Amino acid sequence: MTLKIGVIGTGAIGQDHIRRITNTLSGGKIVAVNDVNKEQANAVVNTQGLDAKVYDDSHDLIKAEEVDAIVVTSWGPTHEEFVLAAIEAGKPVFCEKPLATTAEGCKKIVDAEIAHGKPLVQVGYMRRYDTGYRALKKVIESGKIGEALMVHCAHRNPSVPDTYTGDMSIVDTFIHEIDVLRWLLDDDYVSVQVVAPKKTSKALEHLQDPIMVLLETKQGVRINAEVFVNCQYGYDIQCQVVGETGIVNLPEPSSVILRSDAKLSTDILVDWKERFIDSYDTELQDWINSTVKGEVNGPMAWDGYAAAVTSDACLEAKKSGAIVPISLEERPDFYNKNLTVAGSL
Ligand code: NAP
Repeated sequence: MTLKIGVIGTGAIGQDHIRRITNTLSGGKIVAVNDVNKEQANAVVNTQGLDAKVYDDSHDLIKAEEVDAIVVTSWGPTHEEFVLAAIEAGKPVFCEKPLATTAEGCKKIVDAEIAHGKPLVQVGYMRRYDTGYRALKKVIESGKIGEALMVHCAHRNPSVPDTYTGDMSIVDTFIHEIDVLRWLLDDDYVSVQVVAPKKTSKALEHLQDPIMVLLETKQGVRINAEVFVNCQYGYDIQCQVVGETGIVNLPEPSSVILRSDAKLSTDILVDWKERFIDSYDTELQDWINSTVKGEVNGPMAWDGYAAAVTSDACLEAKKSGAIVPISLEERPDFYNKNLTVAGSL
């Protein structure tokens, strides 16, 4: 069966997902698109050679008979409305992060999905599909390093545009660590503190950069994460888990080793799209395959909610400098019953 997909939002990641579903993956077909910028939606249909209808109204696309499932890649503040509408229509929906811009918005989605009675929502936390993070998780679960005690990590970007705000270092950038570390450790967070080291001269006036986020989990694991979005030298994701009897590191992306000019060197990536390109492919293919089977196999609405509760606490901690408690209620049985490898904890 071919999954007939409608895409809302034909900007950067929307175009990328349309391209991979059309040219790289199997089992899915883009049959409908919508964007507030209709000219752009038309241009995407033409340049990517799609046999797809351009809808003026996103809600008409969601309800359309020819659309089996929805991909939401519009601007973050619109996600809640579209995901709720997809649930109301009883259609599976893949929503790019954030699931909603507030924890309350995510909770509405969780409640609507539970009321619907069957999981429909997957959130675009693609790092759970990265081979490196999966290998890390396997080692932790094997017990080879004993119990995890500490995690040291870094999320570094070469530079960010003028439009990047201080809050974006949490809600756009660090949000990926929030999700993947929770999944990696199979644990939830209980508190967070955000501290500001000496500011780089390479950041714009309004931006504190870098920042350090210190998280504590329910099991007592301490995480220190550096978020440095004007590091200049590359897009660099680091993660080291320290256990009782060993240490495990996220592997570096594969790259040729060059011997030249009396130096041994390897390239460092500069573009986040390249760093996680395989993860996006695996993520969307898994979404298509599981959706056809009537299942959700990836990060669920509950994970989107947990990430939002944590990022709200991070924002408060960033503002106050204090240690802020993170309280997440017990995960509902509805989600416990549907756990999978890439899914909820
Ligand atoms: P983008 O290039 O700005 O694209 C968003 C598109 O949605 C734009 O074409 C925008 O139109 C359109 N849009 C806005 N409001 C809409 C509405 N009400 N109905 C239909 N279309 C609407 O942004 P992007 O970089 O693709 O990001 C989109 C989402 O994906 C964001 O939530 C972002 O956080 C997420 N994302 C996730 C990852 C990841 O690693 N998982 C990576 C990149 C992005 P206008 O431009 O005319 O407003």
